[in-house]
Amino acid sequence: MLLARLGHDVLLLDRARFPRKKTCGDGLTPRAVDTLARLGLEKKIASLSFKVLSARLYAPSGTVLRASFANSVEPLPPRGYVIQRVHLDDLLRLEAIKAGARFVGGAQVTDFIWDNQRVKGVKVHLDGVEKEVRSFVVVVATGASLHLLKRLGIAPASGVDLFAVRGYWEGVKDIDDALEFHFVRNISPGYSWLFPVSYDVANIGICFYPGRKFPRILPRKMLMELLSSHPYFRKRLENARPMGKIHGYPIRTGFPLQPVSGKGWLIVGEAAGLVNPVTGEGIDLAMESAELAAQVIYQVIGSGNRDGDTLRLYSKKLHSRFRGMFYALRLIRPVALHPQLQEFVLRMATKRPGLKRRIIRINLGLVPVHQILFPWF
Ligand SMILES: Cc1cc2nc3c(=O)[nH]c(=O)nc-3n(C[C@H](O)[C@H](O)[C@H](O)COP(=O)(O)OP(=O)(O)OC[C@H]3O[C@@H](n4cnc5c(N)ncnc54)[C@H](O)[C@@H]3O)c2cc1C
Repeated sequence: MLLARLGHDVLLLDRARFPRKKTCGDGLTPRAVDTLARLGLEKKIASLSFKVLSARLYAPSGTVLRASFANSVEPLPPRGYVIQRVHLDDLLRLEAIKAGARFVGGAQVTDFIWDNQRVKGVKVHLDGVEKEVRSFVVVVATGASLHLLKRLGIAPASGVDLFAVRGYWEGVKDIDDALEFHFVRNISPGYSWLFPVSYDVANIGICFYPGRKFPRILPRKMLMELLSSHPYFRKRLENARPMGKIHGYPIRTGFPLQPVSGKGWLIVGEAAGLVNPVTGEGIDLAMESAELAAQVIYQVIGSGNRDGDTLRLYSKKLHSRFRGMFYALRLIRPVALHPQLQEFVLRMATKRPGLKRRIIRINLGLVPVHQILFPWF
């Protein structure tokens, strides 16, 4: 969208036909709102969303930490939204088209076109026909899928580290303007969420690190067991009905372990592993990385240097923006996802506003790693 707004020739290819659904919690963090506001899209998003002004964190014992975004998330806007991806993603697509980009749905990118070790375009499978599309730069934005990373020879050995499932329920009691995060012993390391889609409907799901503790249990079954056995969810869903099926999808949080740019190509969003390794949220980071990519491509084209290698600047910028954040989040992840430690920290935070603020800020990537390690500096 940004490159099209700047007058460049942009072709968007997606294997899905839009509008398309995407399995997601639908939560937009204040970080995401910041980018959408910069793009001039917040008003439109707000008209399709449910606004949230706080987060509520529930410890395994039921202790509740209420954290308002106001005075906690500056310089970000003190609000988030819950918006179904079928609406968010289509709005972004239509805005890109409005700016001059062309979009082709049902177009599966199968491989890259190489010329002298530089990417010169992509091969596309469209309506049963193989086509070639040539371009100055290819931006890979293919989410958790590893196919194109394999074609670039950079797919990480362990592709997926989180898994999440979610469904929608209507008739949910006591919905208010908070994103709810529930830490429960049966889902550890991980958590469950309840995000309000409206005052009646909620997106409810679980997000966990599949490992030795979850050998063969179906994630869908885990979610249903949680909702029928946990007293809190049972009460909230007493009169609720499921809307449609429960869907799950893997999440990749591996940044910065793989290259993110090369000659003629660069990678944005979850394809670069840019998903918060504690919360599993990645819409915000996907949009921020796409914004950085657009700035670098614009700069490189403007410089007249057609050597694709100059895209290395993107890698530098991405690392300087996100590397510290990912190290910090990985550092706190064992604490954030351990039931006893969650209990201890959340209890302490109910009595210490400074700690509460810090928890929110760390999760949004607003606290540099050195300040987590040495908080007295
Ligand atoms: C259950 C669940 C809940 C989540 N909840 C949240 C949340 O509440 N908030 C949050 O911020 N994040 C959440 N996330 C993470 C979030 O969904 C991702 O981080 C985000 O969608 C990444 O955006 P992206 O643009 O990089 O990739 P995607 O949104 O996955 O988009 C990738 C696109 O590429 C297309 N594609 C893939 N391969 C090809 C190909 N070969 N050729 C052509 N097209 C291709 C796909 O069709 C798709 O449209 C959740 C994830 C899951 C699984």
